[in-house]
Amino acid sequence: MQVHETIAGLRAALQAAGRIVFVPTMGNLHAGHTTLMRQARGHGDTVVSSIFVNRLQFRPGEDFDKYPRTFAADCEKLVAAGVDHLFAPSEEELYPEPQRYVVEPPVEHANILEGEFRPGHFRGVATVVMKLFAVVQPQAALFGKKDYQQFMVLSAMVREFALPIEVIPGETVRAEDGLALSSRNGYLSAAERAEAPRLHRCLSRLAEAVRAGNRDFAALEAAAFAELRARGWAPDYISVRKRIDLQSPPVDGNPPLVVLAAARLGSTRLIDNLEI
Ligand code: AMP
Repeated sequence: MQVHETIAGLRAALQAAGRIVFVPTMGNLHAGHTTLMRQARGHGDTVVSSIFVNRLQFRPGEDFDKYPRTFAADCEKLVAAGVDHLFAPSEEELYPEPQRYVVEPPVEHANILEGEFRPGHFRGVATVVMKLFAVVQPQAALFGKKDYQQFMVLSAMVREFALPIEVIPGETVRAEDGLALSSRNGYLSAAERAEAPRLHRCLSRLAEAVRAGNRDFAALEAAAFAELRARGWAPDYISVRKRIDLQSPPVDGNPPLVVLAAARLGSTRLIDNLEI
């Protein structure tokens, strides 16, 4: 695997790369990430990944400074997953001047769910991904459904800008007890880690009830909220939405649904979702 710290170096190396498949990350890699890398191999000739902890998508007071940075271990995992090129720029390389030109997702995508609790988050995500797309110039890119709203925002961005990039989803990879793998799981204490799979269990039960015909989404969401609260969680949202645009489901009709949640356990904020 070649490691590139500069845009010029990466571009030079990718000149005869064929069809480029790109998997951007913020590092601290786990099996969720490496599954995307292995999936990428089947979609093109050259697999490019990136590691960049993007300051633009963190708000002041969030975990930008303490976000785990584990570069050497990450490189070993990327090699094992068959990645050809890693782009790992410094902040000075990717943002040599303040990034004043930004991608502003529409409020109906960016200010709901995660965006309600992390204002500006999706502007930061869309802006860095647009910039990474300009740097890497991939023909395809993979994003995990673990970050379901992020996948929706980035798919819409690619579509509305007519970027010549195929956006491919990766299924959420979970631990055996159901907890979605996340770099932030490392913040959990042993007791919190034992409690953490409850989030997935709550979503599974809610999804099961909807599949069985219960359409009282508000009551189901409230019951899941109450269960988490009773176990010491502080949920931000638990919400049944249409998969296509993450808006509230209509009273009639039967569009594909997804239930999404974010909740704090101790000082760790976890997100998860399940297609229904
Ligand atoms: P991150 O490093 O958190 O920015 O994640 C990089 C990519 O990996 C994103 O497309 C995420 O959605 C994806 N990802 C993170 N965790 C998982 C997981 N447990 N399963 C599948 N994809 C994941």
